[in-house]
Amino acid sequence: MKILMVSSEAVPWAKTGGLADTVSSLSLALEKQGHEVKIVIPRYYSIDRGKLTQLPGAMGVPVGGGEEWSAVYTTALPGTPKKKPLQVYFIDHEIFFGRDGIYGIPSQPDFPDNPRRFTFFCRAVFQLCRKIDWFPDIIHAHDWPAAMAPVFLKFAERAPGSAGEFAKTASLLTIHNLGYQGIYHKDNFWYAGLGWDVFYHAGFEDWNMMNLLKAGLYSADKLNTVSPNYAEETKTQALGFRLDGVLRYRSADYSGILNGIDTNLWNPAKDPYIPRKYSVKDMAGKALAKEALRKEFGLPPAEDAPIIGMVTRLTDQKGVGELFGPSYGSAWSICRDMDLQMVFLGSGEHWCENETKSLSSRLSNFKARIGYSEEMSHLIEAGSDFFLMPSRYEPCGLNQMYSLVYGTLPIVRNTGGLADTVENYDQDAGTGAGFLFDDLTPQAIYNTVGWAVWAWYNRRHHIEAMRLRGMKLDFSWEKSAKKYGALYEECLQSL
Ligand code: ADP
Repeated sequence: MKILMVSSEAVPWAKTGGLADTVSSLSLALEKQGHEVKIVIPRYYSIDRGKLTQLPGAMGVPVGGGEEWSAVYTTALPGTPKKKPLQVYFIDHEIFFGRDGIYGIPSQPDFPDNPRRFTFFCRAVFQLCRKIDWFPDIIHAHDWPAAMAPVFLKFAERAPGSAGEFAKTASLLTIHNLGYQGIYHKDNFWYAGLGWDVFYHAGFEDWNMMNLLKAGLYSADKLNTVSPNYAEETKTQALGFRLDGVLRYRSADYSGILNGIDTNLWNPAKDPYIPRKYSVKDMAGKALAKEALRKEFGLPPAEDAPIIGMVTRLTDQKGVGELFGPSYGSAWSICRDMDLQMVFLGSGEHWCENETKSLSSRLSNFKARIGYSEEMSHLIEAGSDFFLMPSRYEPCGLNQMYSLVYGTLPIVRNTGGLADTVENYDQDAGTGAGFLFDDLTPQAIYNTVGWAVWAWYNRRHHIEAMRLRGMKLDFSWEKSAKKYGALYEECLQSL
C-alpha cells in the first residue's frame, strides 16, 4: 500500500514531543512490512536546506483566493536502505516557515498565523503528490496541524467536479494529544478556499471559532489514537476536551493502537550514551550508568539510595503542578522524608523551571537540569532505579516504555497509555513491573513513591525480578505497524 504521512514533526528534523518519534519509526516499520511510505513536513528554518535536494521548479498551492508559491526539498529518512530509501519531503515557504519555532517561540507559543501556516501546508500536500506523480492509497494525518488534509481530501479532492486523482485515496487521522486542537478565529477560514457550507459540514464550527482538529475528526475516513485506553478515555467528558461527543459519534470508526518505540535507539544493549551497554544477561552496565548519572548531576555518593528519574515537558498535562507546585507540590516532602535521590530533566513553563531550580539549590538529593538533551535522557533512563510520570492524562507516553526496557521501574498515574503498558506491582505475589496510582494529588504521588521506596529497601528481590520482567517486554513497532496495516485496509474499504 502507498501511504503518505502528513505531519508537522518528524525526527531527526523537527521535534517537540512523541509525535516526531512516532511518525518516523512507524514509517520505518511499515516499510519493513512491504508498504511504500513517504513523509511530508514543513521545511522549518532550523532544517538546513544544504543537506536536502531541491525538486526542480516551484510549486503553486491554491489558498487564500489565489496561489502561494513554494519549493519542495527531499532527502531519505535515516535508517532506510540506499537502494530503496524512504523519501521525506519538505514544503518550503519563506514567510510561513522561515522563522524560529515550529508552532511558536517562548515569547509567543502559538504564532497568530498558525491557521494559515498549516492550512497552506495541508493544501500543499496534494500539490506535492501531483508534482511527484505519486498518488497514495492512504493519507495518514497526525494531530491538528495535519487535520486539514482529510478535510481537503473529502471536500475538495474527492468532491464532485474535482480532478479525480485522489478518488481512491482514503484518510486516517491520528490523535496524539487531544489537548491541542488548533482553535482560531473563524475569520481565518476563508484562506482555505472552501465554501462556508464546508465550514459547517466539515465541523469546523466551535462556538463561533474555527477548530481544525474537530473538522479533521468529522472528515477523515477513520480515526485512531495512540493507545486503546486513551481511545476510551477521550470518549468521556473528563478527558474528551469538549470533543468527546464527536468521538462518541464517530466511535464505529475510532480505535486505539499503542505506539511502539524505536528499539535501535532505545535499547540498553546498543545505547551509545551510557558508559557500558547492558542486558538481562549482564546488568553490570546499569550500576555504572547509575554512578555516571550521579556524577553528571553532582549528586553526593549514596551507597544504596535509589535514584528516581524524570524527563518531561513542563506542562500541566504531566502533573507538574501536583509535583512541583510551590507550597503544595510533593517533590519537596518526598526528597525531605525519603532516603532517595532524584534527577530531573525538562523544560517548559517558567514557574516550574524556576521551582525545580530552586529545589535543586535547597535539597542535596534533588538535582534538576533545565533544557533538552537526548544524551542526558538516555543516561537518566539507564542510571535511574525508578522513573516518575504523574501525568494528568497521557495518550500513550514513551518514557515509561523506555524505562521498562532499561530495567527502570515506572511510577505512573493509572491513565491512558500508562495504564496499557505498566503492570502494577503486587507485593504479595511479587509480580508487576511498575507502580500505579489513581488520583492525581500530591499525597497520592508521595504515597506511591513511598511504596516504591519501601519495596526498594524491603523487597529488593521483587525489584530485581520486576526489572527483568520489564526488560523482556516487546514494545517494538512491528506489532503496532501490523495493526496500522489492517486499519489502512479498513480505511480503503470505507470508500
Ligand atoms: P509528550 O509527547 O507528551 O511530550 P511522550 O512521552 O510521548 O510525551 O514523548 C516525549 C518524548 O520527548 C520522549 O522521547 C522524551 O524522552 C522526550 N523529551 C521530553 N523532554 C525532554 C528533554 N528535556 N530532553 C530530552 N528528551 C525529552
